[in-house]
Amino acid sequence: MFKNKGVLLLKITKKKIYPPPKKYNFVKKNKMATKRLEAYQDVLHREPKHIDFHGKLSDLFGKNVFHSEQMREYLPSETYKQMMACITNGNRLERKIADQVASAMKDWAISKGVTHYTHWFQPLTGATAEKHDAFLKPLSPGKAIERFDGDMLVQQEPDASSFPNGGIRNTFEARGYTAWDPSSPAFVIGKTLCIPTIFISYTGESLDYKMPLLKALQAVDESAVAVCQYFDKNVTKVIATLGWEQEYFLIDSALFNARPDLMLTGRALFGHAPAKGQQLEDHYFGSIPDRVTAFMREFETEALLLGIPVTTRHNEVAPNQFECAPIFEECNLANDHNLLLMDIMEKIARKHNFRVLLHEKPFAGVNGSGKHNNWSLSTNTGVNLLAPGKNPKSNLQFLTFFVNTIAAIHDNADLLRACIASAGNDHRLGANEAPPAIISAFIGTQLSRILDDLEMNIKAGKMTPNDKTELKLNIGKIPQIMLDNTDRNRTSPFAFTGNKFEFRAVGSSANCGSAMIVLNTIMAKQLKEFKKSVDKRISNGEGKDEAILKELQRIIKDSKKIRFEGNGYGEEWVKEANKRGLSNLKDTPRALQVWHDKKVEKLFTEMNVLSPRELEARREIEFENYVLKIQIESRLMGDITQNYFTPAAIEYQNKLIQNVQGLIQLFGDKNGKAAARAQIEIIERISLHLNKMRTAAEKMLDQRKAANKLEHAEEKSIAYCDNVKAYFDEIRYHADKLELLVEDELWPLPKFRELLFTR
Ligand code: ADP
Ligand code: MG
Repeated sequence: MFKNKGVLLLKITKKKIYPPPKKYNFVKKNKMATKRLEAYQDVLHREPKHIDFHGKLSDLFGKNVFHSEQMREYLPSETYKQMMACITNGNRLERKIADQVASAMKDWAISKGVTHYTHWFQPLTGATAEKHDAFLKPLSPGKAIERFDGDMLVQQEPDASSFPNGGIRNTFEARGYTAWDPSSPAFVIGKTLCIPTIFISYTGESLDYKMPLLKALQAVDESAVAVCQYFDKNVTKVIATLGWEQEYFLIDSALFNARPDLMLTGRALFGHAPAKGQQLEDHYFGSIPDRVTAFMREFETEALLLGIPVTTRHNEVAPNQFECAPIFEECNLANDHNLLLMDIMEKIARKHNFRVLLHEKPFAGVNGSGKHNNWSLSTNTGVNLLAPGKNPKSNLQFLTFFVNTIAAIHDNADLLRACIASAGNDHRLGANEAPPAIISAFIGTQLSRILDDLEMNIKAGKMTPNDKTELKLNIGKIPQIMLDNTDRNRTSPFAFTGNKFEFRAVGSSANCGSAMIVLNTIMAKQLKEFKKSVDKRISNGEGKDEAILKELQRIIKDSKKIRFEGNGYGEEWVKEANKRGLSNLKDTPRALQVWHDKKVEKLFTEMNVLSPRELEARREIEFENYVLKIQIESRLMGDITQNYFTPAAIEYQNKLIQNVQGLIQLFGDKNGKAAARAQIEIIERISLHLNKMRTAAEKMLDQRKAANKLEHAEEKSIAYCDNVKAYFDEIRYHADKLELLVEDELWPLPKFRELLFTR
């Protein structure tokens, strides 16, 4: 009698006579596979869910935000003025004002049917967090009023002891506080008033992205205003602007639910590339499918109500990949809006039976997702400091900020690499369709020529009037519109695109705050140093323009090696970058090492953005986050290979064995085996891949056990990267081979072709 003994039943002897195979009942035998097929059926019958909305988008804009117009309406005019001063100049907020604003906010919110409020904050887990409280204050049994005062607005103590804090908060003092950030307006979602806040420890250290970001923005404001004074005395405030572009994948929720890897890690840990991938590029800028349009329309409507100026939507290169981009805003607000939008997208997607994948690389073999951070600096006089101007004077100002940005990138390339490092982004950086892990800056041929000219033509010693005129003429020639010239190189991690820099290496799931803290801090430091050097030259008798030009010349020279105009995806660049002495930090644990650097500590302390203690805490958290991510992926790989793939492979193999045995029974040993040649070959190949997959998974488990014994997060992260993750590709290779071998109906997980091409 034939017994199901799995893979070991390979030897077929001629003596035994087996009964013919029973009628195969797939539905009963393989429940997981049934789930996959049912999910697929579900998807085929989906209809778009259009929302009813008629009217103008402009009528929606900011309706659910307590912005300055609302404040003007709800506050006494004196209070309103004082509040505005707090917002624009960062003045201290008096208790009396806070009470009045809270009361106004409450009235406005109640008029919208709001019952609860929450302090909305950005812990270092990467997501946003909230704790809801009711406006209700009981007065006596059966009697209560709606209460919300200044204290409740300004500060809250969430029970937040389980947010990562890198050891800053001792367990006996596990309190963390949230404190209102008045520069980002409160908003209403559903029946809840959300108040953007910073998140700090009992001892005042930051435990989030917002507080250091606000400090970095203040630092760059101060340094940039000081430099602007060379050109225009009216400049009193400089803001950093951020325009992010968010890429994401959309997957039907039924298929998503049938993939434990997508559910738990946000990426497909397994899956053979489909016959059709993105090679036809027919998805890019193709028409957006109806179901997707309905989803986009709803989340965009929701975003507009919250004052997020989303305008652009399109398909991306990979199948089922899309992008959403708003108009740029002040950096802190833009970042809040990005986080809010990610949240809204996920919520609305569920209503449309979609799931949003914000992971950097959900599917091997097709493009990953990034979040381009378009960044610039803008003055209270309405000038974009990274846009070339109309005359030599404004162009000298442009060159000053432009060249200083390049210098900041040059001097802090490793730090920029570190601030975008994550387990997810590791799959993307350096792969062949994303910016490389080598940080470089692309500026286009025209500006390269201008910088080269400046470098060559400024002579040592005092400049003659002729020299000056000639330089001014050259600088005057910078065309105002250079978009066509500069926008072409898509392979650069940091590209100048005509009137802003675009930091492309940021991961799609990241909090932009991490990148923006670093970028604005290094810019603040660079401008401060620049001002010091120019002032020194001036005090040594050089004219102002001459001092600026000479200083620019020096930093153009010093930062030259960071400029790269070629193909960032090519192997040659890796070699060339190595020759230039640029780092190529390929994984997160290596990239994070830079946080140990004394130079980094000095930078953040001097710019008053992060204290050494805060830096240390952040570093710990980042190492821990990395370990946790890889640990979950590794566990899941073990689980899926064991509980999903092994049974499916054995089941199909048994089916083949039965067939072989049947043929032998029918035709005799020799002829039967000859007739079953293909089947026998598949049986052997299944055994081969199954055994190899399982062996690698076992070795990975041993490595995981060893890594878990390590005490320090940093050591552990390196062990996870080098020893545990090292097995991922091998396990996957064999699993994906099994996917190709095993009968389609028996394969338990939705395949890439279903995930990527059905909607
Ligand atoms: P893509 O990179 O997809 O070609 P664009 O070059 O048009 O798209 O990028 C436009 C993005 O740049 C938008 O999100 C826009 O808001 C942003 N942007 C434009 N000007 C600025 C600026 N001065 N500061 C920051 N972001 C800006
Ligand atoms: Mg872009």
